[in-house]
Amino acid sequence: MYRTHTCGELRLANAGQEVTLSGWVQRVRDKGALIWIDLRDRYGITQLFLQDGVSDPKLIEQARSFGREYVLQAKGTVVERESKNPNMPTGEIEIKVSEFNLLNASKVPPFTIEDESDGGDDLRMKYRYLDLRRNPVRRNLELRHNMAILVRNYLSNLNFLEIETPFLIKSTPEGARDFVVPSRMNPGEFYALPQSPQQYKQLLMVAGFDRYFQIVRCFRDEDLRADRQPEFTQIDCEMSFVEQEDVLNTFEGLAKHLFKEIKGIEFDKFPRMTWHDAMKYYGSDKPDIRFGMKFVELNDVAKGKGFGLFDGAELVVGINAEGCAEYTRKQLDQLTEFVKRPQVGAGGMVYIKYNADGTFKSSVDKFYTADDLKKFADKFGAKPGDLMLILCGPAMKTRKQLNELRLEMGNQLGLRNPQKFAPLWVIDFPLLEWDDETQRYYAMHHPFTAPKPEDEYLLDDPSKWGEIRANAYDIVMNGSEVGGGSIRIHDRVLQNKMFHTLGFTDEQAQEQFGFLMGAFEYGAPPHAGLAFGFDRLCSIFAGADSIRDFIAFPKNNSGRDVMSGSPAPLAKEQLEELEIKLDLKDQKA
Ligand code: ASP
Repeated sequence: MYRTHTCGELRLANAGQEVTLSGWVQRVRDKGALIWIDLRDRYGITQLFLQDGVSDPKLIEQARSFGREYVLQAKGTVVERESKNPNMPTGEIEIKVSEFNLLNASKVPPFTIEDESDGGDDLRMKYRYLDLRRNPVRRNLELRHNMAILVRNYLSNLNFLEIETPFLIKSTPEGARDFVVPSRMNPGEFYALPQSPQQYKQLLMVAGFDRYFQIVRCFRDEDLRADRQPEFTQIDCEMSFVEQEDVLNTFEGLAKHLFKEIKGIEFDKFPRMTWHDAMKYYGSDKPDIRFGMKFVELNDVAKGKGFGLFDGAELVVGINAEGCAEYTRKQLDQLTEFVKRPQVGAGGMVYIKYNADGTFKSSVDKFYTADDLKKFADKFGAKPGDLMLILCGPAMKTRKQLNELRLEMGNQLGLRNPQKFAPLWVIDFPLLEWDDETQRYYAMHHPFTAPKPEDEYLLDDPSKWGEIRANAYDIVMNGSEVGGGSIRIHDRVLQNKMFHTLGFTDEQAQEQFGFLMGAFEYGAPPHAGLAFGFDRLCSIFAGADSIRDFIAFPKNNSGRDVMSGSPAPLAKEQLEELEIKLDLKDQKA
């Protein structure tokens, strides 16, 4: 028997027991007369103890030969510690060792296996199996497991069935780029890896399954922005005979259940905001509502006073940073630099300080009297001591820039506490989104999303397509989109119309989505669904920024697995078998 207990299990009540433990050497502390070894496994650390002159000299010699990460079996007696460690669950006891069994030696690990490791990101990724021995990373995966179990049980209790859908599917051009897989048995033909099980889950509704879910890997070959993974996991769901309200309530229920079980937090109803309001008041379709600082539009007080930039702008809009009137010249310059960075792209920033003594100081004093500036302050509801920050330009662009500034101010003022949670539904997304580059509309969500019935008639008027609202919704937490979905089109005629709107000919639509369209002719029920980004959800519950830490074996920012070395070239024989002809000169050996 390798062990009678784990390294996290023994307590004072076990004192006197003979036990056997197995684990890794966290460290050896050799004080000459006394030697301690911290033995670690997934469950914790237990201190082993030897005493010169008391313990068998052979044991002492053995103990001195052990290095970090050696794998040991240790037998001994549980004894009460003289100096207890209240910070460790096993801190009241130690094991007086009577026998060691070296199970495996270890090279010196390339970084310390401690909560705060000395290893950089790249090194830890290369030796991910060692990184995973560290408590914080292990805890992340435990959280992920616990969340997955809760999700499965919750949905299963509501009659959802978990059904697997294929990974080798047909490539479709809408959405992101597909990862493709060549078919050896069908030379020259390719599968795609699913970006999501969207069409299959809709087919399951046609098949009458009524309620489906799947915790499922999805693949998107997108340019990797920070913290995107080419493969990621969704909690993918679909329901029949439901309206938007049913879907929102069902998945709000799931989110609340997770908050309650994992964080011990109970929520009332999640607030809801239309996409239009989210853009108008926060400049973002995923507003972080842990803090206020709502946008205030200022055209009426800003224009007509001879300040050309404001006069010529489509929108003058700002935020009020409460209590920040004391910001120094340098701090204000830094904010101006911040909004001028190419990632934000504003031309500049106007500030108005509402000083504690009731006077004003602004960067546009030349154009505005104190009375004028008071009108700004009134619009903001600002008090003496506040600082108003204002941007101007084309409406949508300026709102997005102000969103960045608002989030930056939120960070600076400590208003984005990761242990505070602010869920939000954003509803009534636009159905279509214009793309300047290809000069056509794209489905904002996906082509199967239904327009709001009251907006459906606008499909007949191309000049109005940008105004059509969809029955689509996102669930947002702390400024991150954690899920999204929609009511689906279940009527073939409407679906056809949608494909035409997206610029497909009948043949193209048939060729790409024929099987789904065909299925819709055999009694498709009204249906709707949603998918949560599971990795992101886990990171938010942990109050962490990066989703990478919640994936056991993630890719780096260039989509590489630096541990296994993928992607990698294929051997010539493999390529030949697939009948893929590459100019091998160009290939790295
Ligand atoms: N398939 C969608 C997505 O991946 C989610 C949904 O509409 O259910 O975003």
